[in-house]
Amino acid sequence: MTIKAVSVLRSVLLVAVSTILSAQLIAQEQDARLPYQYPPKLIAELKQIHNAALTSDYAYVQLAHLCNNIGPRLSGSPQAEHAVQYVAAEMRRLGLDVRLEKVMVPHWVRGAETAELVQFSGQAPGTTQKIVLTALGGSVATPAQGLTAEVVVADSFEHLATLGREKVAGKIILFNVRFDKQKAAQGLALDAYGEAVVYRGIGANAAAKLGAIGALVRSVGGADYRLPHTGGLGYANDAPKIPAGAVAAEDADLIAYLTAQGPVRMHLTLTPQTLPDVESHNVIADIKGSEHPEEVIIVSGHLDSWDLGTGAIDDGAGVVVAMQTAQLIKRLGLRPKRTIRVIAWMNEENGLMGGRTYAEDHKSELSHHVAAIESDLGAGHPTGFSAHASSRAFEMLRAVSTILQTSGAGIVRQTQNAEGADVFPLDAAGVPTLAPIQDNRTYFNYHHTAADTLDKVVPRELAENAAVTAVLAYAIANMPDRLPR
Ligand SMILES: [Zn+2]
Repeated sequence: MTIKAVSVLRSVLLVAVSTILSAQLIAQEQDARLPYQYPPKLIAELKQIHNAALTSDYAYVQLAHLCNNIGPRLSGSPQAEHAVQYVAAEMRRLGLDVRLEKVMVPHWVRGAETAELVQFSGQAPGTTQKIVLTALGGSVATPAQGLTAEVVVADSFEHLATLGREKVAGKIILFNVRFDKQKAAQGLALDAYGEAVVYRGIGANAAAKLGAIGALVRSVGGADYRLPHTGGLGYANDAPKIPAGAVAAEDADLIAYLTAQGPVRMHLTLTPQTLPDVESHNVIADIKGSEHPEEVIIVSGHLDSWDLGTGAIDDGAGVVVAMQTAQLIKRLGLRPKRTIRVIAWMNEENGLMGGRTYAEDHKSELSHHVAAIESDLGAGHPTGFSAHASSRAFEMLRAVSTILQTSGAGIVRQTQNAEGADVFPLDAAGVPTLAPIQDNRTYFNYHHTAADTLDKVVPRELAENAAVTAVLAYAIANMPDRLPR
């Protein structure tokens, strides 16, 4: 035989062997060309979970306790730690295998936060104008008696660069970038948020590089009730840390109006403190899988919240929906084949230390993490779920939508990015991530404000969210085949 013939024969043999192998695989895993089928027993169980979720008030009762009895749960606070103990006790009461995993978290405490315009065009003698604002999480303080400086408005980072050091040094910069309410009304609230939140995140650093002594951002949110929206900021090492806050949208408009007429001076007082890091915890609660206990499906939300409101939509709702997934499985006497792991993450809001620490501590087990679900966009009516997963995994999840569509949640959307901040490090390690798709048209009206309270959650819609998460988690736990990557 010639060398070429040998090589042809070898290829033919290889094709034959791989055909046999893939035929075996297909026999085991079902034909990839056909819609993926769930066994009738699994479908019946999923319907049972779906119906039970929709008629249960468990999630709402838990949310009421977290918000009204425990209260705001900022990382490092006594309430955050009490919430950890509460969720752990509740999961133990349901019979789950519970442990607390240590997470070191920042301990930032809000102080006084006031501002007034002390000089502006047309001012009535001897008067000032109050500005409604709140400190951004992680902000450094002004002197205790406050600082007074001219306010300069920047409409964008490009505009800031045009102003240059000459017009920025020694001033307070206001980034007056609108949250696009029209976009939010069209169902693209997260995109609207993404466009504006960058100024909250790095605006102070950009202003400080040009010598500013304070940075304000127009609140990143959609409401018209003179509510300031807090949120984390990030300082970088290439500029001094300067005090930073968010002003209500109405006050941003006021400042823009007055600065167009002449110089405006502000007296700004922010006295937050950053205390030493505190030991806190992720709550980890398992229902062990009966056949593949090492294979893990995470259902999660973040337990910490900002301090202004009581963290109902952000993200008590996500935590209680995950808790209810466990409660339903236990109540219905079901047994997942793979392990369902409820996680109440700590410190999503101002550090993401819970998600990062988990990914690091469980690094060697991540190849067995089948999927991670996180709900962190409120509790509005879910229209379905989204997944950052391979196309084959996505196809295997489609059957779930036939059950969920009876509660109006039949949409299945494949996304390009991780679903949820806490599960981002898992996503980066290749774990498929999923989330319910909520109606979030009004979510950013309350997000990170004093108005993030229990009344913003509609009990029926919360139950619908629990239904989506529980059905999804149980389906992945009990599919005949492991969800591929
Ligand atoms: Zn959140």
